[in-house]
Amino acid sequence: MNVRTRIAPSPTGRMHIGTVRTALFNYLYAKKHDGTYIVRIEDTDKERSKAVHEAEIWSDFEWLGLGPDEKYRQSEHAPRHRDLLHELVSKDRAYVSNEQAKDGSGREVSVVRLRNPGRKVTFHDIVRGDITFDTTELGDFVIARSIDDPLYHFAVVADDGDEKISHVIRGEDHISNTPRQILIQEALELPRPVYAHLPLILAPDRSKLSKRKHNASIEVYREAGFLPEAILNFLALLGWNPGTEQEIFSVAELIDAFTLENIQKSGATFNTDKLRWFNKAHLARLAPEVFLATIRTRLESQTPRTLTETEAARIIPILRDRIEVLSDVDASVKEGEWQFAFSRPTMPHEKLTWKDTPTNLTKTHLTQARTAFAEADFSPESLKMALWGYAEEHGRGSVLWPVRFALTGMERSPDPFTVASILGKEETLARLDAAIQAV
Ligand code: GLU
Repeated sequence: MNVRTRIAPSPTGRMHIGTVRTALFNYLYAKKHDGTYIVRIEDTDKERSKAVHEAEIWSDFEWLGLGPDEKYRQSEHAPRHRDLLHELVSKDRAYVSNEQAKDGSGREVSVVRLRNPGRKVTFHDIVRGDITFDTTELGDFVIARSIDDPLYHFAVVADDGDEKISHVIRGEDHISNTPRQILIQEALELPRPVYAHLPLILAPDRSKLSKRKHNASIEVYREAGFLPEAILNFLALLGWNPGTEQEIFSVAELIDAFTLENIQKSGATFNTDKLRWFNKAHLARLAPEVFLATIRTRLESQTPRTLTETEAARIIPILRDRIEVLSDVDASVKEGEWQFAFSRPTMPHEKLTWKDTPTNLTKTHLTQARTAFAEADFSPESLKMALWGYAEEHGRGSVLWPVRFALTGMERSPDPFTVASILGKEETLARLDAAIQAV
């Protein structure tokens, strides 16, 4: 079978995480079977569809690596929809009803109704097995507001037919639409695609995942600096499993492993901590120089000036070992953690002294550190070597606390050797001198 799948987002807002997952499953299935993955913008709701949202959809798909092989815009098919509707009426599979209904602008229009054969419709769903609906109660349902203005179900079925969609892979919330769509399909004498309805994505409290309440918009994660591959890996495992213990997948590995049969029925929980975990794993998979450059760019977007090479070489590896998401870099800057690199500390001198160490002893320790550091080559290791023996002998707290505080003016910061190596010799000695004066 020539596999052709589609994702059909409506451009009425920023993309929901659930839409991204549906796109991903369509993408994976098509790629796995050398098929065609289609994006169709469903913009027939003229009031709510906005060009800006359509542009965001394209930009988000491109960023995620889910750009389509073919793309369509539903509103451009309006003449074709009209023709098909006329054809159905001329074949008496549908009819223009005598009743009148008001359209949006208050005019009276004649609706078009499908002649419903009124029987049970059974379709096979790859995820849920056979599903049967009695369509009698739907009656002759409306398929168009007027002979020139088809409704959503009609447009979807007509487009799926024209685009030769072989597999309809979409959210479970569309199951109840399927019988209606099958009746339209049969009236249009179109082949029935294979259906696979994906389980809902739930919030941690098992409620429906909401864009606003649960940050379920792709934009949130894109802006926080999550990696596209981490997001895709995480979403792939929301409702699908590889049948093995493997958790970390590249997109190529997902394509390889993906089957519709391994999609589960039960709802899948969206857990941000898990997403962060995936992101950390994918950051660690980046080429080291790419990872470092990425952190540097992010860091410099937050700091008052660009970093010197020494600062970059010292600070970035510390961040690399700590962050799960690039926005953690912003948080560490906001907490003032790197402030010492950009400005000299103001120094309340009582804080220079560790616990009940006598002041004159603190002065001696600082002086000793200054002398030892003046001889060091300013790598963190050589700085540590220069002072460690003395600190062990006189008490680590009472020696290292004042040194660290003299350099940073902060209760918490990286260790004094790392700090001194970031600052460089001249600045370190100047801050120690200031502290010796102040104590
Ligand atoms: N446009 C529909 C939506 O946004 C999807 C239609 C479909 O997948 O059949 O939910």
